[in-house]
Amino acid sequence: MEISAIIKRNGKNGLPDKPEAGEKERNGLRMGWEKNVRNAVPYTPGEQPGGGNIIKLNTNENPYPPPPGVLEAVRNLEAAQYSLYPDPDAGALRQCLADYYGVEKERVFVGVGSDDVLALSFLTFFNGGRPVLFPDITYSFYDVWANLYGIPYRTVPLREDFTIDEKDYMCENGGIIFPNPNAPTGVLEPLDKIEAIVRANPNAVVIVDEAYIDFGGESALPLLDRYENLLLVRTFSKSRSLAGLRIGFALGSKKLIGYLQDVKFSFNSYTMNLPSLAAGAASIADEPYFREQLRKVTQVREWVKKELQALGFSGTDSRSNFVFVTHPKIPAKDLFLALREAGIYVRYFEKPRIDRYLRISIGTREQMHALLIFLKQYITERK
Ligand code: PMP
Repeated sequence: MEISAIIKRNGKNGLPDKPEAGEKERNGLRMGWEKNVRNAVPYTPGEQPGGGNIIKLNTNENPYPPPPGVLEAVRNLEAAQYSLYPDPDAGALRQCLADYYGVEKERVFVGVGSDDVLALSFLTFFNGGRPVLFPDITYSFYDVWANLYGIPYRTVPLREDFTIDEKDYMCENGGIIFPNPNAPTGVLEPLDKIEAIVRANPNAVVIVDEAYIDFGGESALPLLDRYENLLLVRTFSKSRSLAGLRIGFALGSKKLIGYLQDVKFSFNSYTMNLPSLAAGAASIADEPYFREQLRKVTQVREWVKKELQALGFSGTDSRSNFVFVTHPKIPAKDLFLALREAGIYVRYFEKPRIDRYLRISIGTREQMHALLIFLKQYITERK
């Protein structure tokens, strides 16, 4: 479609439907058996549109394929293995990760993507009466889990520049969680700030969600030996190009991981399926491929930041595999809708403080080039 036609058609709301909190109760429909049903307000994941001719920059997937060894490992599985349950302990994959990070296997937990690891961590560690703390702008699954489990929580406003003020976390609380780098801002917090927060909270579990740390951040891994209450959560979905296989993990003290294992085995013994276990280990085995892939993504990210700046955008200095940008003249929602109609999917959050921003995942250089060409033309024609 021509850009001018897209500009004219703007105003049509193509955003995913927002869940309505407690809608049924308000309508007085929760009668009889429905009164006993848990009324959850779900997280809205980014769209997964089908069709070949789109550029998908909305869910922070990696644009490059996983290393060849991953496909080979899955192909090499015997048919007979599929009829047996997988290892409930996920021992081989946990050992791989333990060796890779230089910790014991008893300090590694694995799950079905980091969403599964995080959901179980909320259930396991946030079980007190005091509110759990997390930033007002953060991964929008945190409040969903807190609401699902009935965990009290309080959101803590980030500073104007989207950084954390560590003093805000030095108070009574029932636990702390934040991503580093943060999502959807991409802002990276330094290790000394994270240590200050962990040190000040010996009576609470502090979870650092390091989903994006491989793209240029300093991991809190060195702190693990000093703080029994620190849990790091990671994923294979972003830096390891394996979003489709759902592999996440946590690193922490033996005590923390032991508690997580107990809750997991009270919930579902076989969370990790056979191909995921094999693929995860094969991914860890190819370090050169992993490094090269990270280099490509971060190089394209830095180039895209400069190009967007030249088009008048400003944003955070993201250290993730996405950028978080705003344009002074064009509302983010207009841009989001126009891009979507042109087959370029990015993420827009209609939320306080960030509704002027777009979160754009880093694709291949060719994909980002197409995005930049569209934006340039759109901005010129709208003037
Ligand atoms: N944490 C953060 C901050 C994320 O952005 C995501 C991706 N949506 C996740 C965790 C979950 O990723 P996955 O379940 O694919 O590991």
